[in-house]
Amino acid sequence: MKGVGPQKAELLKKEVGIFTFGDLIEYYPFRYVDRSKFHKISDLLNVEGGVQIKGQIVGILESGSGRAKRLTAKFQDDTGVIDLVWFKGASWVKNTLKINTPIQVYGKPTQFNGRWNIAHPEISTTLQQHEVGYQPVYSSTEKLNARGLNSKGIEQLVKAVLDELSGQVEEPFSSEICREYRLIGREKAIRLIHNPKTELDAQQARFRLKFEELFFLQMELLVRKKITLQKSQGYTMSEVGNTFNTFYKNHIPFELTNAQKRVLKEIRKNLNTGHHMNRLLQGDVGSGKTLVALLSMLLVIDNGYQAAIIAPTEILAIQHYESISELLAPMNLTVSLLTGSTKKKDRVPLHEKLMRGDIDVLVGTHALLEDPVKFKNLGLVVIDEQHRFGVAQRSKMWKKNNLAPHVLIMTATPIPRTLAMTFYGDLEVSVIDELPPGRKPIQTIHKYDAGRLAVFGLIRDEVAKGRQVYFVYPLIKESEKLDFNNLLDGFEAITRSFPMPDYNLSIVHGQMKAEDKAFEMNRFIKGETQIMVATTVIEVGVNVPNASVMVIESAERFGLSQLHQLRGRVGRGAEKSYCILMTGDKISKDSQKRMKTMVSTNDGFEIAEVDLQLRGPGDLLGTQQSGLLDLKIANLSKDAQVVAMARDVAKELLVKDPTIELDAHKMIRSRLQEMLKSRPNWGRIA
Ligand code: ADP
Ligand code: MG
Repeated sequence: MKGVGPQKAELLKKEVGIFTFGDLIEYYPFRYVDRSKFHKISDLLNVEGGVQIKGQIVGILESGSGRAKRLTAKFQDDTGVIDLVWFKGASWVKNTLKINTPIQVYGKPTQFNGRWNIAHPEISTTLQQHEVGYQPVYSSTEKLNARGLNSKGIEQLVKAVLDELSGQVEEPFSSEICREYRLIGREKAIRLIHNPKTELDAQQARFRLKFEELFFLQMELLVRKKITLQKSQGYTMSEVGNTFNTFYKNHIPFELTNAQKRVLKEIRKNLNTGHHMNRLLQGDVGSGKTLVALLSMLLVIDNGYQAAIIAPTEILAIQHYESISELLAPMNLTVSLLTGSTKKKDRVPLHEKLMRGDIDVLVGTHALLEDPVKFKNLGLVVIDEQHRFGVAQRSKMWKKNNLAPHVLIMTATPIPRTLAMTFYGDLEVSVIDELPPGRKPIQTIHKYDAGRLAVFGLIRDEVAKGRQVYFVYPLIKESEKLDFNNLLDGFEAITRSFPMPDYNLSIVHGQMKAEDKAFEMNRFIKGETQIMVATTVIEVGVNVPNASVMVIESAERFGLSQLHQLRGRVGRGAEKSYCILMTGDKISKDSQKRMKTMVSTNDGFEIAEVDLQLRGPGDLLGTQQSGLLDLKIANLSKDAQVVAMARDVAKELLVKDPTIELDAHKMIRSRLQEMLKSRPNWGRIA
């Protein structure tokens, strides 16, 4: 390309990933300067951001020397005077400035000692005035800048390429699709996004290009899902039999919520297709996922298979084991527990029973994934609290059968709809979006450290009523030592305020041995201690319905989803519960927003939306999958509507043309083939 020698080419690749003409025309500006508007100097108080002013320079002053050298020009229009200031390249700039000649300047005015000035303004003579209203602004880097590829330089490159490519930009969408969804053509969109004449131009271009990007992302996911589905055979489970029916009719402790019923139906249908089930079950804390899992396991048992449920910690596994055993007590079924601390002498017979098929439901921790464990015919694996499991562990489950068992992954970490649609596009997703009736909402209170005494008062009242209390401290790897000391200090302070024998305290943290942790946890579960002081080890899943207060210390250091998870530990019984967020007096704006959000809503999905806005999708899902979110123009958190629309259009297209072979879809097909080739398969969960 003219004007791009080997060195510049190398820089463009390294610095901003531009290898081809295609990359360059898809290097979109991140904003525009409205060059059709001019401001008056007397008006500057009322503007935000950059301004453009017509006027002339009436005097130039050089001051300082060496590094402190600076150049100041007095710039005047018919309403006033301001300073234009340069701290770099003063001598060079000075030679380019002409006094008493009409010019226009662009820059961001700031006020300093009561005087307005613009540092490093862009200057052009009024004669070279842009014909266009909007000038694109491109992001550049220091190295590119040094080689003349600042925003202006990039603009010129893009212009040159667009001239060269005139009429050659491929249009993936048929005219029908463009008409139906009001999309302007690809080439037009690309021209307009780099050079819009009006705000509307820019909007139309952005919409078209966002839609296209999201459409192909969704197509890719849907096609992958289809391929996986075709490949993946699973056990067909068509029976709804005796076990399920007996339990459902006679022993189920409560009426299922509508959401639970709906999800169960989805699972039932899925199990009956002959395809392997790979399903994510999302439901807020306390929404009753376990019962859905249990009923799914009964379906599997009715079809002659075994089922397993895996929890992320031993404590949780034991809780599941106890509650499932209790629920299934009237049924003629065998439920067993297998964890890391199952004794060797118990292990061997357990393995044998599993092999013989004498165990119907195995509850366990990841110990269950260890090699010697073999099932006779494992039909379903339920994985509770998915985010605690690594991918490698999950994939171990495959190896336990000839055909892979169906997989149901349960998570209480709500994922905003747009993200779920995209990120889990090739999984089935079920959502329990309703809590069982009769729950009293948890009251959340934000207190600064100064208000601690009042908090202790509330705790005394609750304990006097027979309730239990959690204190949770952050423990973050980077500041582990400091955090640990905080925990111990906190424990001591709490011990002083809540002395024996009136109060019994438990403490649980990561540096304790597993058995000591379990011992303390169990004392609390059994009600022998009233106050549990802990680090986030209790975050996931523990169920102590009698606990009614959750105090979160240094709450500003927790993320929203973590705060919400912690809060979910209370409000599990019939009593009114409290979540108290303790923070330092001075917290950041973001922290304030998090506290406000927690105080104002108990809805996990609403919280997830705020979280997405505060942190961005990469952080929310972990960096592992962030490649997926490498979008050029669309934004999964801000363009929710376009995401939904793109998904609908993609789905509809696949219904009309399942193998994408219609002539009108030729371009879509070839682009997709390329995408499927070049990207690894990141969507699989198990
Ligand atoms: P989570 O979805 O957080 O795992 P659980 O499955 O532990 O929630 O359920 C929370 C509590 O709600 C449990 O005590 C459970 O027995 C109860 N529960 C579940 N389903 C219902 C229902 N349909 N009606 C009333 N209570 C229910
Ligand atoms: Mg649970």
